Amino acid sequence: MTPLVIFTAIAATLLAAPGVAHADQYRNGHWIFGSIEQEFLRFLNPNGSSRIGEPTSDELLAGASGEGRWQEFGYTNRIFWTAAVDPGRGRQVGGLILSKYLTPNIKYEKGVLGYPVTSEEQAVGGRYNNFQNGAITYQNGAIAAYATYGDIRTQWGASGWETGPYGFPSTDPYQCTEETNANGVYGNGKGQTFLNGNKYFTSGADSSFINPGSESVNTALKTLTYKGTTKYTNALNSTKLIWNARGLVQIQQSSDPNLADVTISDYNQPGGAVGFYDKASRTVQFNDAYLSATTYPNNMYSTLARQTNLVAHEFGHAMGMGHSCQTALMDPISSNVTQLNIVDKTAFSQMWSFP
Ligand SMILES: [Zn+2]
Repeated sequence: MTPLVIFTAIAATLLAAPGVAHADQYRNGHWIFGSIEQEFLRFLNPNGSSRIGEPTSDELLAGASGEGRWQEFGYTNRIFWTAAVDPGRGRQVGGLILSKYLTPNIKYEKGVLGYPVTSEEQAVGGRYNNFQNGAITYQNGAIAAYATYGDIRTQWGASGWETGPYGFPSTDPYQCTEETNANGVYGNGKGQTFLNGNKYFTSGADSSFINPGSESVNTALKTLTYKGTTKYTNALNSTKLIWNARGLVQIQQSSDPNLADVTISDYNQPGGAVGFYDKASRTVQFNDAYLSATTYPNNMYSTLARQTNLVAHEFGHAMGMGHSCQTALMDPISSNVTQLNIVDKTAFSQMWSFP
């Protein structure tokens, strides 16, 4: 955090909350006073030593308009105060939770979480701070803490927080970048992974990143068998490696040429889609007009990467995956992405393994 205004002790005293009973403290070359002092006093041992260290900064302005205050203690703790939370007392944030709170994505009191409303507290098997708009939490022994907020936090709470089936968060929430193509606006989704399983939530223009009921998977066997042929066999083999590595649904060539969950084939339709999956006819088709064409700059559609992206994308649809974000395999715009990103993995797990 960039230091803002460093007050002298006198100026700072004038800014302190009125009516404070305790005398201001001068320790380690810094004044501690007012509402921050009220929180600091809670961390003093009977012999006067501090469990959050001695002050290592003066009291500084906090918030977008300087409406709050903060002060650092022992380099790994800070006390934040705003009258909007509690006129009479600040709240301590420290250690792994403070490290997360100070990251650019969370952006301390100026970011999505706002000011702390609790000091660091004990979770079941971990620690947390609650903030105005969420929390930062970690499991004992973890090397990082993670934020929860918004609709994901609401649903995590409904499931029983860290003692529920999801356990502690293992990522921060991630937000896809909204984009627009001929099919409309999409990609405005959010998701978050937890230690005991994956849960994916969306909001905004997309209805969902998964479409349960649209799949052709044999749900009892957790297999997606295919018959038919394509000339893009290397892309097909890569597709099986990409999805089957998740261990949730296995894409397999059918051992019975008359029986399969889907039929694959190539077709030629200039100007059409690069490929498609159709539930009603249980077909997955790849468009030679792009994938075999040398008319595009640098043969852009006829590379193995682009062919793999297309085949794996259409098989994704056949396994119930909807469209999602840029850089995901399930981005509706054809790309050179040939592996699952965190959004693909989380949505696929949501579809096939959890809860
Ligand atoms: Zn698609």
